[in-house]
Amino acid sequence: MAVPKRRTSKSKRDKRRANWKLSIPGMSICPKCGEIKLPHRVCKSCGTYKKMDVIDVE
Ligand SMILES: [Zn+2]
Repeated sequence: MAVPKRRTSKSKRDKRRANWKLSIPGMSICPKCGEIKLPHRVCKSCGTYKKMDVIDVE
């Protein structure tokens, strides 16, 4: 098994852990309109899923 050669410094470790909260958990970006949407679900703002228009949005 691969083993780390150097111990991760406190600074490096804490910087890594400080970043995870910036991205909203369980969210993805719609490729069509760029809106934040739930993954594996139809986009709320443009009604698109897998590049197909699924529902009508006014
Ligand atoms: Zn969209």
